[in-house]
Amino acid sequence: MVKGELFIVSGPSGAGKSTICRIVRKQLGINLATSATTREPREGELNGRDYYFLGVEEFKEKIQNKEFLEYATVHTNYYGTLKSEVEARLATGENVILEIDVQGGLQVKDVYPEAHLVFFRTPTSEDLERRLRGRKTDSEETIQLRLKNSLEELKYEDKYDITITNHTVEKSCEELVKIINSKN
Ligand code: 5GP
Repeated sequence: MVKGELFIVSGPSGAGKSTICRIVRKQLGINLATSATTREPREGELNGRDYYFLGVEEFKEKIQNKEFLEYATVHTNYYGTLKSEVEARLATGENVILEIDVQGGLQVKDVYPEAHLVFFRTPTSEDLERRLRGRKTDSEETIQLRLKNSLEELKYEDKYDITITNHTVEKSCEELVKIINSKN
């Protein structure tokens, strides 16, 4: 029987999900469910902490072995949630937050219909572009791809249970904490 609550946080890249999830996890003592990806690590990112950085063959092997709860191709790379990061924690009553793209979010909802889907967005598309550029870690090509994909992601908003519009980090954290506490 599933005991912990599962929260899926999605939304366009650059909407501020990572920052907010990091703060909220720390505040509520929720462990990170580390995803796997085939994208290159950014400066400062650590294997096993930020992601499990895998080669394409290694990733495909895990697909074959059915090690993923969900996986998707996002911005030309594979990303996936390992079952090992989620199942045991839920079973022992831990809350789990997955910060994953919309394709993955809906796959998880199929497996865990009781999961809570939270969509993050910026107030305007100009805000999104400003945030993506402000990060200064991505090339122009990557930024353009992410902006294009963000329009696709926004189409899924109405499939999510609740939307947080990220006006300020502080306010968005408060909203996410309130949502999590209301389900426990
Ligand atoms: P980034 O490359 O900026 O770290 O992440 C790019 C996108 O991949 C984000 O929208 C993020 O939510 C998504 N993502 C991260 N981990 C996973 C995962 O395990 N599964 C899926 N489907 N998407 C993920």
